[in-house]
This record gives sequence, structure tokens and C-alpha cells, in this order.
Amino acid sequence: MEIQVHDIRKGFDGHAAALNGLSLTVASGELMALLGPSGSGKTTLLRVIAGLEVPDGGRILFDGADASHRSVQDRNVGFVFQHYALFRHMTVAQNVGFGLSARPRSRRPSRREIRRRAEELLALVQLQGLEHRYPAQLSGGQRQRVALARALAVEPTVLLLDEPFGALDAKVRKDLRRWLRDLHDRTGHTTVFVTHDQEEALELSDRVAIINAGRVEQVGSPPEVYLRPASAFVFGFMGASNGLPVEVRGGAAFLNGCPRPVADGIRVADGPHMVYARPHDVVLAPDDETGTGLRGIAEAVRVAPGLVRVDMAVPGLDKRLELDIPMSDAHWMSVRPGQPIHVRLTHCHVFGP
Ligand code: ADP
Ligand code: MG
Repeated sequence: MEIQVHDIRKGFDGHAAALNGLSLTVASGELMALLGPSGSGKTTLLRVIAGLEVPDGGRILFDGADASHRSVQDRNVGFVFQHYALFRHMTVAQNVGFGLSARPRSRRPSRREIRRRAEELLALVQLQGLEHRYPAQLSGGQRQRVALARALAVEPTVLLLDEPFGALDAKVRKDLRRWLRDLHDRTGHTTVFVTHDQEEALELSDRVAIINAGRVEQVGSPPEVYLRPASAFVFGFMGASNGLPVEVRGGAAFLNGCPRPVADGIRVADGPHMVYARPHDVVLAPDDETGTGLRGIAEAVRVAPGLVRVDMAVPGLDKRLELDIPMSDAHWMSVRPGQPIHVRLTHCHVFGP
């Protein structure tokens, strides 16, 4: 099932618009992550797709057919929320079968069939044998898998997951992430997965949509959004970044007060811009006398596994530059707090207006 979201607008009384003319296409069978900061509209978008929220404008199409006016039931979506709201007084099997048991009599499978289906789904989410337990007798990760089995029980064509692992600890999250990717590959549901965790989005999804202030900033595969960010927002949101206000002249960027360019090969119009570089793309250049680069003073020097983090003060720049120097670069040992250092930007981004 392909999902097309067309120019959706949604506001809540007395608030800035939650969705601001948002458009997005999720391909059939795709696992797409919606990644964005808290309050950017991710949950609202999922609820609009599910039919739980009526948009002020715009359309939702399922396989090309307008589904904007279909009821939640007729959209046939499976939904999992951040806080696994299982029914506490029901067993695992009853929870999983709930969606089927709650159907009108004409479409309700027999009790035996519901039990069989619950067993099958519990095997799929690798919880065989726990049919008779109650939610309180399960771990957080197990509960979340029950919630997923429950969402799958109604044979949805679309699976919507709103930060489903958000409440779990880091190790369990990581395991469940791999497991979900695996499950997706076996079942092939079109899946939209909300997260505010960059690593989770990059590791899990076929494509990532980066959401900011109720709009899509960029859609792309994980390498695309990480390596070719479309905006300064995307660049900054995908990882630590250094921003330098520069003057671009003839394809080179000059930092105020530095006689030499800090970066070459810049393809934007002459004038003031910001260049952005990741901490690992600011490298030591101790012997480089003629090339591009920045001189400054090393301030904090901190050792982390496999690398050394340095904060560097640069004249003309009010924020410290962050460097991540791999320990394989033996020069790191000569970097001392209070001493001058010379660095080069090996890779940087400039975003047009
Ligand atoms: P996210 O899931 O990305 O954190 P949400 O979709 O929950 O963002 O919220 C987007 C914006 O809409 C926020 O500013 C939020 O406060 C507002 N909002 C969401 N739901 C409601 C609601 N039921 N009533 C009022 N404001 C809401
Ligand atoms: Mg949310």
C-alpha cells in the first residue's frame, strides 16, 4: 500500500500550526522513519494518516485513492504508541486477539480462529509460550512486541509506529530495532516509524523524512540525508556540527580576520554565508604552512574511546570549534590545552539562501 500525504495542514486552537502544508509519499512496502525534534508534528502526522485526527486541509491517498474521509476502521492501519497501552486485565493472547474479538459479529472470526491467529502472531514476534501471562509479568521489550502483535492481528495494510521503543533502555531498544527491521523484511507492511533518535532512523529505515515545524525538510536514504543534507537544519540535526560565519569570494570561504580561506571549492554566490563541518572533518594540519586552514588555541582536550575531543578557540569566531581526532592520528599527542593548533576542514557544507 502506497501512502500519499498531500499538502496537509493542521492547527490546534491557540497554537502555531502543527502541520504546515506537509507532503510526503511512502512507497509500498517501505519502512520510512519520520525523524524530527519534539513538537515538530510527527505524532500529528501519524494520527492524520490513521484517521484519528481530521486535517484542516489537504488529502491522504492510499494506493492513489482518496482516503481522507474514510473512518479509522476503513483505513485498516495498525498503530503502536510509545507507551505500550496493553490491557492490564487481559492475558497476552487476549490482548493480541482484541482487535479481532471487537469486530462486529458478521466479520468476527471464531474464538478458536482468534486463538490460532494470536498464537501465530506471538510466534512471529518471538513470544511463543507467553500466551497466558499478563502484561505485568513481561519485560518492557516483551510488552512492546505484544503491542506490535496486537497491531498486526487485524491484518493492516499499513503499520504506524509512534516512538514504539521510546520508553525502553538503550540496549533493549537496539535489539528491538534490529528485530523490527527483520520483521518488516519478512512481512513487507508499508511502515511509518516515528523517532527523534537519529541513530535509530538511520539504522532502521529504507528512507528518512526529516520533519521540522510541520514540514518535510528532506526525504532520502540514510546515506543521502547524512552525507548530502538539504539544509542547515538537517545537517545540524543529524549530528554534531560546527558553524562558521564566512565571506565567500570566488569559490573560497574566508573567516573574518583570517587571511587564508578556511575552505575551497564552495559553489554558492559571493557574499556572507555559514559553512558547516562535522567534528571529524576538522583535522590537524600541523605542518601545513601554505594551504587553507585555521589557527587557534586548543582549550579542552578530552579522551573518548578511539578518539580525542578538542575544543578550539579561533580568533573571529565566538563559538568554540569541536574536533574529533582519531587516535590513529599520532599528532593528537602533541595537542595540549592552552597551546596553538592549526586545523583544516576536509569536508564542509554551505547551504544556499
Ligand atoms: P511531535 O510528535 O513531533 O513531538 P506533535 O505532533 O505531538 O509533535 O505536536 C506538534 C505540535 O502540535 C506541538 O506544538 C504540540 O504542542 C501541538 N499539539 C499536538 N497535539 C495537540 C492537541 N491535541 N492540542 C493542542 N496542541 C497540540
Ligand atoms: Mg510525538
